[in-house]
Amino acid sequence: MTDPRHIATSIVGAVDWQTEVSGFCRCPGEALHTHRTGKKDCRVSVDGAPTIYCFHSSCAAAVAAVNRRLRQELGAGSWEIILPDRKVLRNGDVLEAGGSVLPREVVHARARAEGRDAGEQLALETLRAVADRFKPELFEKFR
Ligand SMILES: [Zn+2]
Repeated sequence: MTDPRHIATSIVGAVDWQTEVSGFCRCPGEALHTHRTGKKDCRVSVDGAPTIYCFHSSCAAAVAAVNRRLRQELGAGSWEIILPDRKVLRNGDVLEAGGSVLPREVVHARARAEGRDAGEQLALETLRAVADRFKPELFEKFR
């Protein structure tokens, strides 16, 4: 079975993994940054809706293009990661900030319940989990 982190690395280049699913990478739009680029400005996550997040905004178009590719390639095959606590994370599952796994079936059920497209729901659940996960970092960055 393919390791999603290998697929991510093949798209964004070397990743300094900080957790099982997320790490720092070079921003695909780094050349477009209008402010100094720090080592921790750009991050990639493979859970939920796989996404690159960059603190800069001038690179948004380049980041969006790579995000489409990440979601296509990581969404195409099925994969799973065994987490350190033996929980299994599958493609489309969201890793919550507290370490629990939000199964993709729950994401789909919420989408139906709320009348949303499954992809949109997954993006929302991912954004929520990622914001929780990175809260300490964000506060430090924008102190
Ligand atoms: Zn950037």
